[in-house]
Amino acid sequence: MATGTARKQKVIMAAFDRGQVPTIACINHASVGLGVDFNKLIVALQKFLDECFVPVWGTPAKLVKATRPLPGAWTLVFLDNADAANALGYHDLTVNGLPLAKIFVKTTLQDNQKVSVTACHELAEMMVDPAINLWSDGPNNMLYAYEMCDAVEEQEFLIDGIAMSDFVYPAFFEGFRKPKSTQFDYLKKVTKPFQILAGGYSLVRKGTSVTQIFGSVAKQKRFAREDRRQHRSEYRKRLVKRRNVAKSSRAAAGNGGRRQEKLQPMQPSMTTH
Ligand SMILES: [Zn+2]
Repeated sequence: MATGTARKQKVIMAAFDRGQVPTIACINHASVGLGVDFNKLIVALQKFLDECFVPVWGTPAKLVKATRPLPGAWTLVFLDNADAANALGYHDLTVNGLPLAKIFVKTTLQDNQKVSVTACHELAEMMVDPAINLWSDGPNNMLYAYEMCDAVEEQEFLIDGIAMSDFVYPAFFEGFRKPKSTQFDYLKKVTKPFQILAGGYSLVRKGTSVTQIFGSVAKQKRFAREDRRQHRSEYRKRLVKRRNVAKSSRAAAGNGGRRQEKLQPMQPSMTTH
């Protein structure tokens, strides 16, 4: 795919259709080992979708190994780290308007985490909320980001000996559920809606202010040390901020927003080599 740094490209906001079964091109551009065989990882991630995730969330996909983005396909790309990959920061859509998840391999390893778990985490969240714009009504009049793995981050299980991430069930986001009344996550560690496990966190929003809340002080400390610049939650914060800025400039202009609707679309990808 052309990367479009010099030439101005028209960014298509969303060319994906959540009613279709997407192909996801898995591309390894990392210069260091992933800690797991790439082919085996793709097989494990496919099993994760087929056997664990899709029966719950109904979001199938076909993972294929690739060396470059494929036409019409979504992308799961493994890169060394944010700085080396892309100085412009995170974006969730390719220039063709297709979802893009990035796994920062060096960053993950430096944080003593497993690349397979990060990949599973990002894959799961991309499947359900590819545009990173869904929020759910949570406790205390707060909106909770519709992220499947954040609250249960650090809970793992094995597929073919490869560590995968726990994920929450739809009931997790349903505040009317009584504790222990149903299954809230795959590993059955969560007992009530919106519960954050010790190693987890959630991104919450009140009005336009977005913050993280943590399942434990230890996680909060670890989180502060981790390089989160490229995580979906950071991107989500920026989206809210950006929309808010656009809204206030429209209000200031007092024209109902049509002319001032210069809201930047999501950054075009520079890194889908
Ligand atoms: Zn996440």
